[in-house]
Amino acid sequence: MMNTTRAVAVVGAGLAGLSCARVLQDAGLAVTVFDKSRGVGGRLCTRRGDDWQADHGAQYFTARSPAFRAQVDLWMHAGVVTEWQPLRAVFGPHETSSGEPVQRFVGVPGMSAPAKALAAGLTVKTGHTVQVLRRVEDGWRLETAEHGLLPGVFGAVLLAAPAAQAAALLQPVSASLAAMAAGHRMLPSWTVMARFDAPPELPFEAAFVNEGPLRWVARNSSKPGRSGRECWVLQASAAWSAVHLEEEPEVAGQALVAAFRALGGPEPAAVSVHRWRYADCEPATTGSVWEPESGLGLCGDWLLGGRVEGAWSCGRELGGKVLSNLPSVK
Ligand SMILES: Cc1cc2nc3c(=O)[nH]c(=O)nc-3n(C[C@H](O)[C@H](O)[C@H](O)COP(=O)(O)OP(=O)(O)OC[C@H]3O[C@@H](n4cnc5c(N)ncnc54)[C@H](O)[C@@H]3O)c2cc1C
Repeated sequence: MMNTTRAVAVVGAGLAGLSCARVLQDAGLAVTVFDKSRGVGGRLCTRRGDDWQADHGAQYFTARSPAFRAQVDLWMHAGVVTEWQPLRAVFGPHETSSGEPVQRFVGVPGMSAPAKALAAGLTVKTGHTVQVLRRVEDGWRLETAEHGLLPGVFGAVLLAAPAAQAAALLQPVSASLAAMAAGHRMLPSWTVMARFDAPPELPFEAAFVNEGPLRWVARNSSKPGRSGRECWVLQASAAWSAVHLEEEPEVAGQALVAAFRALGGPEPAAVSVHRWRYADCEPATTGSVWEPESGLGLCGDWLLGGRVEGAWSCGRELGGKVLSNLPSVK
């Protein structure tokens, strides 16, 4: 299919989709990225209110591979990423660590900043929820919830969505790929964004919590470049979130605030609550999937070790696989 049309559709403008699209566009392919949200970044995201902001998805990221570290250096040079060194604590049983110092990076002024930098110069269509992949003679056409059947035929459709969402799209067109995606479990997370009139007097700015409903708390206001009111993010563990998945947001929020108070935190002045159905994953290390015969590909954190670094790496890997399958690149 790629021989007849070199247009490529990438579904998902998270870090995986964007890094994949970058590789392909830099090699001369005509790439369009579609995302159902209003902006790019996926789970690298920031919620903003009138006088506050909070990163309610990924909290920070690490860079272990030389390739991702080089990308992070470029982002730091561009001023969209910086190091974050919060005062840390651990509650509950301590997990064993390698003992090596960990560098934690955050987007500036919000977590989506590196994704926005990757998206610069790419054709990204937000507000496009892809619902149907329609196979046609020389490739694929896409149907979206908002705009119906889109014009144009794509030689390849690369899905960069969480496993469950990829599985739903694949079901009618590839039973084998759909089964593979459906076999990956994604884990939920209830998240509270708590605002305070004054900074809580606590001996930590970020804490791993290994007991009770919480998994992580962080003083969002301690991240460089954040503005607005004092704000903390409280994230529930996957296990607690799964049990309370269908709870009312206020009820889940109250439980997490109570757990934060048990750590010594004060009552917030205001809270917002977000439920992530697909926050984290039990990641595979198999890497991206590319089927040249069908023109279908898959990438995302769930296929390569999870986390932000895995998403970026998996997207680049898929881009490379697609390119290696082309007879020549104009
Ligand atoms: C609460 C929380 C905390 C986290 N903490 C950390 C952390 O501290 N460190 C870390 O490294 N990682 C963390 N992560 C994980 C990290 O955010 C992800 O691993 C990474 O961002 C995944 O990127 P991705 O591109 O694979 O997927 P996503 O970022 O999920 O991107 C997928 C995109 O696909 C779009 N999409 C889905 N279906 C469709 C469709 N049908 N049509 C169009 N678009 C579609 C979505 O809107 C989304 O933008 C956290 C995640 C959450 C939610």
